[in-house]
Formats: sequence, C-alpha cells, structure tokens
Amino acid sequence: MQSNLEQSSKELLAKTDLLGMDREMMAAYFVEIGEKPFRATQVMKWIHQMGVSEFDEMTNLSKALREKLKRLAWVRSPKVLAEQFSDDGTIKWLLEVDNHNAVEAVFIPEKNRGTLCISSQVGCALECSFCSTGQQGFNRNLENWEIIAQMWVVNKALGCKPKEERRVSNVVFMGMGEPLLNVTHVFPAARILMDDFAYGLSKRRVTISTAGVVPAIDKIKAELDVSLAISLHAPNNGLRDELVPLNKKYPLETLIPSLYRYVEGGHSKKHVTIEYVMLNQVNDRVEHAHELVALLGDLACKVNLIPFNPFPNTDYQRSSNNAIHRFRSILEEGGLNVTVRKTRGEDIDAACGQLAGKVSDRTKRTVHRVAFDLG
Ligand code: SAH
Repeated sequence: MQSNLEQSSKELLAKTDLLGMDREMMAAYFVEIGEKPFRATQVMKWIHQMGVSEFDEMTNLSKALREKLKRLAWVRSPKVLAEQFSDDGTIKWLLEVDNHNAVEAVFIPEKNRGTLCISSQVGCALECSFCSTGQQGFNRNLENWEIIAQMWVVNKALGCKPKEERRVSNVVFMGMGEPLLNVTHVFPAARILMDDFAYGLSKRRVTISTAGVVPAIDKIKAELDVSLAISLHAPNNGLRDELVPLNKKYPLETLIPSLYRYVEGGHSKKHVTIEYVMLNQVNDRVEHAHELVALLGDLACKVNLIPFNPFPNTDYQRSSNNAIHRFRSILEEGGLNVTVRKTRGEDIDAACGQLAGKVSDRTKRTVHRVAFDLG
C-alpha cells in the first residue's frame, strides 16, 4: 500500500485534497465525480471522527469507489514538527504548513472540558503592541485544510474517541493570526468543527476571537452561528489605538454598535465575550474600569480579564493581583459578569499571546496596507 508520503508531490498536487472541505463542498465534489452526495458524510466521518487518511481503510465504501478516490483525491496528514508538554497538562504542537512556515496549536485540559486554541494565519498583520505573534510579522493566510488540520492532528493524537469521550470539547480561534481577516478559510473550517459528521461541536463551544474587524462581525451574524470574542483591551480610542492599531480603522464608535447588532435578535443567552489583557499601569487603573463599564453599557456580554503573558523584548508587565482584583470589583459593581483567565502553559510558551510558530519571509506590513480578506 502506498502512503501519502511515498507518492510524489507532483502526483498529489494533481489530486483533490479532501481534508479542508466542509459538507457542502464535499457533497459538490462527489457529485462532480459522478457519485451520490451522501458519500460526503461517510467520508467526513472517516476523516474527522476516525482520523483516517487512507481510502483503503474506509471500509463502507465500495472497492470501486475507493479505487476511484485513490486516483482522484487524497487526504493530507500534516507533519508535526514538535510536540511540547507543560507541567500543567497543556500540550503545544508545531505543525508544518509549507516548507518555510509552521503554526502552533495548544490543547488546554481542564476539569470539565478540553480547549483547543488554533491559529488562522501564519504570523499576524495587526501588530498589537502586547502580542508576540504581532512581533513576528505576517506571512499569509492559512487554507481551510491547514486550519482544520490542527484539530485533526490533535484529535488523533488524543485518541479519536467517540463523541462523548472526545477530549477536545471547545475550540477557540485565539492562536496565531486574525481569523476575521481570513474568513474565506476560517468559516468552512468552523463549519467542519460544528458538523455532526465531523467534530460535532455546538456553536457555544466554537469561539472566534477578533481584534474587531467590523464588516466581518456582520458577516458572522449573517452566515455563521458561532460564539464571538472581542479583544477590546482598552476603554477609549486613544489607548486602544496604541494597543490594537486596528482600532484606527474600526474605532470604538464603529465596533461597539456592531456588537449590539451581533447579539440582537439571537436566542436569549446570546452574548459576546470581551477580552481585556491586564497590563500593569497601562490599562488597569480605576478610571479605566469605570470607563469600561460606561462603554459596555447594557451590551449582553461577559468580560474576560487576561493577565498579560510576557515574551522576550516586551516592556509591558502583568498587572498585580491587587490591580486585577480591584478592576474586577469595579466591573462587577457596574453590573458586568467578569472572569479572570487562568494562565496555562507558560513554561512552554503556550499562553495567550506567546505563540510564535515559524514565520518566514515576514513583512512588517501595517494594517492599512494588508489586503483584507473579508470573503
Ligand atoms: N487576533 C485575534 C486572535 C488571536 S489573540 C484577536 O485579537 O482576538 C487571542 C487573545 O490573546 C486576544 O485576546 C489577544 O489580545 C490575547 N493576547 C495577545 N497577546 C497577549 C499576551 N501577551 N498576554 C495575554 N493575552 C494576550
């Protein structure tokens, strides 16, 4: 039996890769090759639930169909360059996406859930001043398969269990990159995560985190029912321009109304998560907390305070526990629902904002010059 790796890359390039196809794409593909569309769900189950990439192992397909698929298609199995284990149970994978670039995915086990944090781009163009990925520069968007490959590899590494026992119960697009600048590839990947014939995660358990790409927030509302987190980090434009330069393009007076639009008309519990990194003496003062309460008004939201995670060559420091506590109390007195994120995987540089991956041909483009892929 010839494995993927033994086939020449030229031969493979002429074939269609099935890993990154959502159900609609897969059904269209089967129709295109003269087969019934329901084959899509059978093949998706093999690929995503069983972790199978060889058509010969897909035993409920006829021999003739397996042979046909072997001629026409393939399922990529991405190369894992490194796997690192933290003392707290967090695991980080470095996945090769092409000859020059690699991205990171992090699995964070907790008592009642297991969260996988995945990347959507190689590097990031947004240059948030407190984020290590931003310091790496931007190379390119990830393709569908490169995004879903992170789940595929991790699910397989964790044993491809039946649904109830699957270790990854939540997926967050909080790894490298800005997912809403790559919606063409992020949306299908999110659909695969939520498809019952693939990973079957509920919309409450798939979260797209964004620095605030407003047109794409509206696009989520129209096209994709997932959970949304906003990297707010500052309660006014002056400070936010400095921390999240994307704010110059989509300032708070544009961003906040888009969040009201997002939660509007949804089911009663629809809310948005507001992420707020706690930077010592920068955005953690009493007046910032009051300003944040006023800014969020009666938006249906939960605030997640993230203690800053340091990385080499940064001048920022994590807020003191006292400052975090004080900030939290003011928000709660203002009627907000607040949680403080527990930092995980710090010893293997796997905490929020510490992912560096391997980004070649970096360009330090500013956000205004990057071609926005809004789908
Ligand atoms: N671009 C997206 C997703 C990636 S960042 C976004 O901006 O939301 C995921 C989260 O980690 C964001 O809230 C981000 O602001 C936060 N983060 C980045 N660097 C951090 C750091 N050094 N310490 C703590 N959180 C950080």
